[in-house]
Formats: sequence, C-alpha cells, structure tokens
Amino acid sequence: MTSGDVHRGSCLCGNVRFEIEGKLGPFGFCHCTSCRKASGTAFTANSSVQRVNVRFLSGEETIKRYESSPGKYRCFCPNCGSPIYKEADDTPGVIRIRLGILDTPVGAKPLAHAFWGEKADWYDDPGGMPVYEAWAPVLKGKVKEE
Ligand SMILES: [Zn+2]
Ligand SMILES: [Zn+2]
Repeated sequence: MTSGDVHRGSCLCGNVRFEIEGKLGPFGFCHCTSCRKASGTAFTANSSVQRVNVRFLSGEETIKRYESSPGKYRCFCPNCGSPIYKEADDTPGVIRIRLGILDTPVGAKPLAHAFWGEKADWYDDPGGMPVYEAWAPVLKGKVKEE
C-alpha cells in the first residue's frame, strides 16, 4: 500500500472533474439489471472511496441524482449522461466511483463477477474470475480507510 496516490476522473463532456486521494477500494463487475441499464452495456466496474478523499474540480453542483433503488442514488452528468458515482443512505461517507470515467490508471484488477444471475444473455465468459449469482462476498464492505 502506497500513500500519496491521486486518481483523476472526468465525465465525457468534461463538465465534471474530480480527484481522489488514496487507494481505490477493491472492485468487480456488476451485472445487475440496474447497472446494465444505467451503463448501457453488460456490466459496470465501481470502486468504493471515502467521500472526504474526493475533491471536485468542476461540475459538482450540476450533478443529477436518480434514486434507482430505495435510498440508492446514481449520480450523473446532466450534460453528457456519464455516470459519475453511486451513493446510498445506508453508507454515508462512502461513494462508489465509476471506474470507466477515470483518466489515470486504476492500478488493480477486478476480483469477481456480481449479479451473474441478472447478466445479459450475450455475455458468457467469466474470464477466470469467480462468479456470484448475486452479491459477491469478496467485494462487500471493503473500503479503504485512508
Ligand atoms: Zn459531462
Ligand atoms: Zn449493479
């Protein structure tokens, strides 16, 4: 574990820009129906980070929130539609950053497939990663505290 890591990200149009200090939490691929619809593709890759470690450089006040499940909010750029992060009432202080919008290397590999039971019929190859029909225990509750 190294200190001083800084990750940078932005939405497609550049309206929303941010920096994340410290390590990203472990991640996998989520194939749930909500993630498929929100992303428009087979799965999402999201990493938990402490909100205090995220600094918005622009566009934070424009971000729109959609409550996709009770108490869970998908937050996106209203101009280009890029998903930025998810937040939830039951995990204050933590947001789930969408890794596809990072401009800097993630520096880690995905650990598992979650919600394989809801996956698109056109995606079949787990690529050697463990597959979970719903929640992936290896991904739950692991948030770096730095
Ligand atoms: Zn945008
Ligand atoms: Zn999902």
